[in-house]
Amino acid sequence: MRSLLLTNCRLAVCMDDAKTELQGAWVGIQDGFVTYLDTVPPARAFDDALDCSRFIALPGLVNTHHHLYQTLTRGFPESEGAGLFDWLRLLYPIWAGLDEEMIYTSTRTGLAELVLSGCTTCADHLYVFPAGSESFIDAQVEAAGSIDIRFHATRGSMDLGRSEGGLPPDSVVQTAEVILSDSERVIGRYHDRSPGAMVQIGLAPCSPFSVTPELMRESARLARAQGVRLHTHIAETADEHRFSMERFGISPVELLARVEWLADDVWVAHCVHPSEADIVGLARAQVSVAHCPTSNMLLGSGLAPTRSFIEAGVNVGLGVDGSASNDSNDLRQEMKQAILSARVRDGSTALSVRAALWMATRGGAACLGREDIGSLEIGKAADVVLFDSDSLQCAGAEEDLLAGVVLGGVSPDTVLVGGRTVVQGGSLRELDESVLAASHNTASRRLMSRWRAAGEPLR
Ligand code: ZN
Repeated sequence: MRSLLLTNCRLAVCMDDAKTELQGAWVGIQDGFVTYLDTVPPARAFDDALDCSRFIALPGLVNTHHHLYQTLTRGFPESEGAGLFDWLRLLYPIWAGLDEEMIYTSTRTGLAELVLSGCTTCADHLYVFPAGSESFIDAQVEAAGSIDIRFHATRGSMDLGRSEGGLPPDSVVQTAEVILSDSERVIGRYHDRSPGAMVQIGLAPCSPFSVTPELMRESARLARAQGVRLHTHIAETADEHRFSMERFGISPVELLARVEWLADDVWVAHCVHPSEADIVGLARAQVSVAHCPTSNMLLGSGLAPTRSFIEAGVNVGLGVDGSASNDSNDLRQEMKQAILSARVRDGSTALSVRAALWMATRGGAACLGREDIGSLEIGKAADVVLFDSDSLQCAGAEEDLLAGVVLGGVSPDTVLVGGRTVVQGGSLRELDESVLAASHNTASRRLMSRWRAAGEPLR
């Protein structure tokens, strides 16, 4: 692989432990990793050079929670105004028609949008496995490879159908035996433990209202035996809290403790409604939180207590969540949403621009258990996002260029993943966006016609 030198970056916001910010930074890249970082040119020669005198360089952003298949039902009109439980009841029967080609295409669409927003690593939570879904995770891994983004596929699961008191229809749940066997298969096939890994696997039972405590416990034991991380939704809505109190007599976070999930190899999505004791428990156990402000606001779930998490020492990453509850795949925008939601909840000092960037980079890397990504440092993976400081949306932010990027709304000019140029001049380098959108729309129409043919009423 040819080496690359980013010359004279106008500003590099490194997000290292010292929170270094360099003006006039030179970043050398060799074999996928950063090998040089300083404010003076290197003595050695690099094969290629990119003039970065107009650019603001940030570490690649890390998305910690998503359901990429939901891009097929983006903006579904009947779901407008529905809270989480009604929203899910409405959409489960549609998602029951998913097939492998739809999973492949929607994964590509969501990841393409994400990388255009500066995301270089994405975790996805796929938990709908109808009949014929045996190769869904395989299709996702193949799709991520075609976009050239780092991908953390989590093998999701649901084993508590409606007939057993759960929320999802029985047609989309599986037995624990099938789930655990396929989990072991995909870990063995795809989980890469080496630095700079492009693919890792996690295990992700969906939520307290769609999964039995037994499956939560067995998934944790399998994950620990295999050395992979655990992910789930928790404390997303007041409805979920009521469900947990009625069914188990304890809060959703207390349920985590009961099923061996209060541990440092776990990251949980949302956590909008924890008690003060829950936050202390999460911090003590070093459970990370994937904060998804847009989704929480769109579904009216509430505003997560991000300031309390940070003060208590809970690691927080950012997630765009599924693109039927966002409905975009824009992680740069999610930083601004995190700032807005925190300040609406807890006042104007609740979350700074730099704290939001920390969440989107280092916080996200820690959620995924990655020490090789999340910062611009020698020895880290060369995931770099370059924003044009001369762009209209940045104009006037001369005193704080980073604030111009996060609050002003500049899209990345260039995105490097492992030193490879994936986005150039604001567009995907090797993929035609209109072709991708057309194939996605075909898949989306096929899914909707399959649902209409099944005659399932809206509920
Ligand atoms: Zn979710």
